[in-house]
Amino acid sequence: MQITKNIHALKIPFKVKISPTITADRFVYVYIITGKKIWLIDSGVAGSKKNIFDYIESIKKNPKDIESIFLTHSHPDHIGAAKSIKEYCNCKIYIHPSEKNWVEDVNLQYSQRPVPGFNELVEGSVKVDNVVNDGDIIKLDGNLSLKVFHTPGHSNGSVSYLLEKDGALFCGDAILSSGQMPIFDDLARCIDSVKKLSDISNVDILLSAWDIPYEANHIQKIMSDSINFSKKIDETIRKFTEKENQSAPMEFCKQIISELNLPVQMANPLTSRSFQSVLKQNDKS
Ligand SMILES: [Zn+2]
Repeated sequence: MQITKNIHALKIPFKVKISPTITADRFVYVYIITGKKIWLIDSGVAGSKKNIFDYIESIKKNPKDIESIFLTHSHPDHIGAAKSIKEYCNCKIYIHPSEKNWVEDVNLQYSQRPVPGFNELVEGSVKVDNVVNDGDIIKLDGNLSLKVFHTPGHSNGSVSYLLEKDGALFCGDAILSSGQMPIFDDLARCIDSVKKLSDISNVDILLSAWDIPYEANHIQKIMSDSINFSKKIDETIRKFTEKENQSAPMEFCKQIISELNLPVQMANPLTSRSFQSVLKQNDKS
């Protein structure tokens, strides 16, 4: 789907086995920026090379012209196909320094964040060529540049990229959409990051990895809904820990999911890990 003259959005569906009995249908958006060359925001899951290349050919461009992949973070559905795309195009891989080692050593990532289905979602480790830091401006070609915003919370090294010419903000998973599966490492930092993004004045289109594209008049509401949802999760977890904090992590997760009126399938190892991170923060404070 063409978004602006230079941006295309590609929705890639995939399945992930989140427990021995539950297979979830998920999707992720990869964004294709076209100019004198081609640049990708994220790479999708393992096997997404074909989806991406087919799309690029359908708009009469050559996949060999992919110059770089700008990763929003290192989770499997974002880095999954980076290996085969890099091998074919010899493109450069960019990511925030704090997640570089999880891209270059996916076994390390899996050992530290053992998410279900990891090995089916990721093709393998891939070398990072450049790191991006908050405030960096990366020139793509004559009139296209990406500005980098460090937006941690969903993960430690999550970044968002602003294509300045179009006011297009690629936020990866940094904005926890209200009612979506809550996956994060640090809920308080999630809220701070969304506030930071909402302070950018010239955003005309919001391009998330997990949601449809939103135009300017919807963006502030998406962000305020996200902040309210995050606060509600935090309050719910605090309420339950005050009442009883002895339940096993998965039982605790089921209680929180139920209290938030979210679908029961959202009680899974990913959300359980997220809720436990709030308990750990509470212990520290
Ligand atoms: Zn993620």
